[in-house]
Amino acid sequence: MPDTKPNPNAPQHRFSFRRSTFDDLLKMQTDYLIVGQGLCGSWLSFFLIQAGARVMVVDPGLKSAASMAAAGVINPITGKRLARQWMADTIAPFLHEAYAAMGRLLDDDLLREVDVHTWFMNHEEAAFFENKAATTHGDLLYFDSLIPAAESFESPFGTGTIRPAYTARLQTLLPGWRRQLIRSEALMEADFDWNEMLIDAESVSWNGIRAKAVIDCSGAAAAENPYFNKLPFALNKGEVLFVRIPGLQNDAIYKYAHLTIAPWDGDVFWVGSSFDWNFTDALPTVAFRQKAEGILRQWLKLPFEVIDHKAAIRPATVTRDAFAGLHPQYPAIGILDGTGAKGCSLAPFLAKQLTDHLLHGTSLLPQVDIVRFVRTLAR
Ligand SMILES: Cc1cc2nc3c(=O)[nH]c(=O)nc-3n(C[C@H](O)[C@H](O)[C@H](O)COP(=O)(O)OP(=O)(O)OC[C@H]3O[C@@H](n4cnc5c(N)ncnc54)[C@H](O)[C@@H]3O)c2cc1C
Repeated sequence: MPDTKPNPNAPQHRFSFRRSTFDDLLKMQTDYLIVGQGLCGSWLSFFLIQAGARVMVVDPGLKSAASMAAAGVINPITGKRLARQWMADTIAPFLHEAYAAMGRLLDDDLLREVDVHTWFMNHEEAAFFENKAATTHGDLLYFDSLIPAAESFESPFGTGTIRPAYTARLQTLLPGWRRQLIRSEALMEADFDWNEMLIDAESVSWNGIRAKAVIDCSGAAAAENPYFNKLPFALNKGEVLFVRIPGLQNDAIYKYAHLTIAPWDGDVFWVGSSFDWNFTDALPTVAFRQKAEGILRQWLKLPFEVIDHKAAIRPATVTRDAFAGLHPQYPAIGILDGTGAKGCSLAPFLAKQLTDHLLHGTSLLPQVDIVRFVRTLAR
């Protein structure tokens, strides 16, 4: 076994084991330890297992996961500027295959095609959409389109439609994949403590498990990881209401005034969300609920009932590029994180990239490879 090097923040006495005592404590050998079972940890473990690697995923439960608060929307056009999604031509066909493969395993249809119907807030917004539909985005934007649920909403400035978009059924995917991992004895319900980990150039050991590498997929918590806390995270909090809206068609996404109504379960809809960069906790707020209910009352003609309210922290980054790869100084520690508001599309795509990188040494896309932060991470 190579020499065991201490982690920078770990207490020194952790490294005073005699080699034989230390080896005796090691009960299990795996290829990769994965910290977190949100979208990143789920997809990374899925692709690694599919490729024949052994994994152990460590996650205490999905309560704080951003993935459990997400609507599952995959929209090819995003933001006020109606920008096309990054690498959409490559990522979209890949997502179909990936969600279908996971869906076969979990016996559910995990990706559904939906229209995104947008109600404009003013004439300028309508004109901008109309221009994009007529020029650069004619394949995806439809101005003044026919909306089956139009009667359910007020429409002072008209509407447009984005097609095709998708929803990923995260409420099936995450618990379903967790059950698979538990059945395969590949999930440990625990909090991973980075200060209790032992590392050397070729392996890590934690809690009686030795692995070739540990990969941090802990979402917003990665910003506290002593090995990765220098990466430029720009965490933000998002809130969502779960709202019963009897009579509203549940086969489309509806948007107005920064609020999205997405299908969830029967007549229950996901209604969100906010982007708060100055949050002090991860709790739901009265302010968000009041604002969202106010917009719903103004826009929706149907009665509704709020049945739940959640908040979670998005693992967003300063440049909006995700983080993937192995630590330049500690090659037995890696990360897959920073998917911001786009985990449903980026997590599967980047998890496959990282799987190929770990198992076959293929290059990661420069926009996501953390070697771009070699100097920052050396500080
Ligand atoms: C309100 C809201 C709406 C969203 N809507 C969408 C959407 O419609 N479409 C979209 O693409 N994206 C959406 N997102 C973004 C999406 O949720 C994220 O990009 C994605 O879920 C991040 O996944 P992750 O696996 O990195 O992190 P998470 O989902 O947060 O998972 C991290 C996991 O790590 C575990 N963990 C943390 N620390 C430890 C530790 N020390 N030891 C062990 N386990 C640990 C946690 O328990 C958690 O389960 C939304 C986000 C929010 C907040």
